[in-house]
Amino acid sequence: MLKENLEQVEARIQQACDRAGRDRSEVTLIAVSKTKPADILRDAYDLGVRVFGENKVQELVDKYGVLPDDIRWHMIGHLQRNKVKYMIDKTELIHSVDSVRLAETIEKEAEKHNITANILIEVNVAREESKFGVIPEELDEIVEKIAGFSHLNVKGLMTIAPNVENPEENRAVFARLRKLSVDIANKNVDNMNMSILSMGMTNDYEIAIEEGATMVRVGTGIFGERNYAQV
Ligand SMILES: *Cc1c(COP(=O)(O)O)cnc(C)c1O
Repeated sequence: MLKENLEQVEARIQQACDRAGRDRSEVTLIAVSKTKPADILRDAYDLGVRVFGENKVQELVDKYGVLPDDIRWHMIGHLQRNKVKYMIDKTELIHSVDSVRLAETIEKEAEKHNITANILIEVNVAREESKFGVIPEELDEIVEKIAGFSHLNVKGLMTIAPNVENPEENRAVFARLRKLSVDIANKNVDNMNMSILSMGMTNDYEIAIEEGATMVRVGTGIFGERNYAQV
């Protein structure tokens, strides 16, 4: 099941790249493994998956402890400031920075560990009240402030698009995120580049790739439905 799912997602990524005239190597697939037990992640690992996305610090840390060292862990969920210290040295990229205060905490913890933390800024493009992320109008200001931190590398933007029936409805959201990133890149702010666009989930990753995603976060499409009752 897992093998077939991975093959299907891989084929669809390739097709979306072909439609958009993009090279497959421009898009990183993040296997979103939240709520799934470590032995399932191990199966995915054995099938070649090396990049996993988690949305809870405790879960990420637990799985980090029992799975191989060459896995690259991505924090994709809302991050509480008091938990940064547990995960800062275990993640390749934090997708969900949505305030200067959170960035400040990451900066402090990164300095303690003598590392530079890679982060994305989460943008609430569709202005959904239920979602985290900065609204587009606040982006410039936050980017300028965060760019001054010496232990942070801002690498791009992330968004969680609305939950829609027809993924085409999210095309404009993805196009907007891309436009925002181009606008910021054109300002040539020091300590910052906009090389990563993290957008697209199981329901809409093909559209996201057509609109320029460089990272897609796919959970259900790889691991099947999540059963929150068991967690
Ligand atoms: C759960 C989650 C995903 C994956 O969702 P699917 O619809 O299962 O692919 C992607 N991004 C974030 C931030 C998530 O929390």
